[in-house]
Parts: sequence; structure tokens; C-alpha cells
Amino acid sequence: MLRLDQATVTYPNGLTALQPTSLAFRPGEFTVLLGASGAGKSTLLRCLNGLVTPTAGDVIADGVGSIVHDRRALRRHRRRTGMVFQQHHLIGRLTALDNVLTGRLAAHGFVRSLFPLPRADRRLALAALDRVGLLDRALDRADRLSGGQQQRVGIARAMAQEPEIVLADEPVASLDPGSAERVLSDLHRICREDGIAAIVSLHQVELARRFADRVIALAHGRVVHDGRPGEVGPRV
Ligand code: ADP
Ligand code: ADP
Repeated sequence: MLRLDQATVTYPNGLTALQPTSLAFRPGEFTVLLGASGAGKSTLLRCLNGLVTPTAGDVIADGVGSIVHDRRALRRHRRRTGMVFQQHHLIGRLTALDNVLTGRLAAHGFVRSLFPLPRADRRLALAALDRVGLLDRALDRADRLSGGQQQRVGIARAMAQEPEIVLADEPVASLDPGSAERVLSDLHRICREDGIAAIVSLHQVELARRFADRVIALAHGRVVHDGRPGEVGPRV
């Protein structure tokens, strides 16, 4: 559904963060990217949503085309792609619900006021919060929530876009192990239930083993392992 075709990224400073890489991501598959800091995980994820433009090669979304060479294709692709970041990018003084709604509005590609809230959007946003166990916190300010709860709001925000693909760059890097596990298990369950493909970078091998259908390990901008989590070697 989404693939890299010999995609290569050389940053302006001359560093090649992604060596020519071809990978195909399948619908509904939960893929974990592993690798040391600087291995190129973030660069690869950013290629998949057009935040980084490959200096060579291509990124192709099924039914849409090249997101590298066609701005319209990129816009359509982004509309069906949910993003979750390490720093959850919530607006602290807005409620959890309004934060989820901002994602929904952004996904629809037009600017409109948050108020009055369209009723269908509001229902979807509340349902998304319910799925991460935060319905009772919907009207609390985001900055009153714990780090793990904020990241679950980030997941609800991505899910309220009704995506086909979720890209998550180190979504649990700043969380304690218990919260990290909860965040990943919510993300994993929702993706499974809705048939959403997820591509998630992590640095905890244990979490990859538990949740991934597929593990791709990167080192120095190259894929050094691509397979089932049970096969991930002790070097990771
Ligand atoms: P460095 O030379 O920087 O130590 P490595 O080649 O040891 O780099 O690998 C960096 C990262 O890539 C590791 O932390 C691991 O996550 C991943 N990796 C390397 N080799 C493998 C492998 N055979 N199987 C799975 N993952 C690997
Ligand atoms: P990871 O997510 O695995 O930590 P990154 O994709 O962030 O890896 O980085 C891969 C390499 O590219 C690193 O050496 C990093 O320092 C470098 N890098 C990342 N972004 C830039 C940039 N904008 N300009 C130059 N080098 C960058």
C-alpha cells in the first residue's frame, strides 16, 4: 500500500542518512523500526509522509502515485495518514477533546473555526478518546494529563482522522515502561481492530517482540534485518 523504491536521503550537509532502500508496507501490518540513535529511523518515517524528500528514488502510495513528484498525490496520501510524534504536539491549554478535533480538521485539508463544533466530528473525537480509555478526561486541559495520557490523546487525534496508515516516530521514548506499554498496547489494539497499517519506531526490543508483526532494523541508514519479531537477533 506504501513503498519505497530505492529511496535515498542525503542531507544538505552531505550525510547520507538513508542508503538506497526498497521496502513495501502492507495493509493492516504492524511494523516496528528498530535501530540505534542516528540509524535513520526518523528519516525513513519522514520519507513516508513527505516531510523529507528523497534525493533519489521514489515513495509510492497505492492508488495515489508518487508522493515525491506529485503534490496532489502527497496531499491525498497525508489525508489518509495519521501521525504520532515523540513530543505529542498537543496544545496544553486546550482540552483533550479539542486537541483530538484539531487533528480531524487538519486531516480534512481546510481551515475552519473549532467552534461551533460539527456534531459528527465531536462524536468521532469522543469515540477516539474512549478507545484510549480517556473519555472521562475529554474536557480536561491537555497539560493536566500525565505524559502517557497525553500520548494516548495523540493517538486518539491520529485515529479521529480515520487513517489507513499510522506513522509513529518514537511515540514512547519519553515515557516510563508502564506508560510506554499502555500507549503501545492501545495503538496496537486500535490498528488491529480497524485494519490500520502502523509503522512505529522504537528503541525497546522487548516492546517490538510483543507487538510487531514485522521488525525492520536499521543501522547506518541501511536495512540490516527485515522479518518476524522472533527472528530479531540478540544484537538489537
Ligand atoms: P554500530 O556499529 O553503530 O554499533 P550496529 O551494526 O551494531 O551499529 O547496529 C546498530 C543497530 O542496528 C543495533 O542497535 C540494532 O538495533 C540494529 N541491528 C544491527 N544488526 C542487526 C541484526 N543482525 N539484526 C537485527 N538488528 C540489527
Ligand atoms: P534515528 O531516527 O534512527 O535516530 P535519524 O533519521 O534522525 O535517525 O538520523 C539519521 C542521521 O541523519 C543521523 O546521523 C542524523 O544526525 C542525521 N540527520 C537527521 N536529520 C538531519 C538533517 N536535517 N540534516 C543533517 N543531518 C541530519
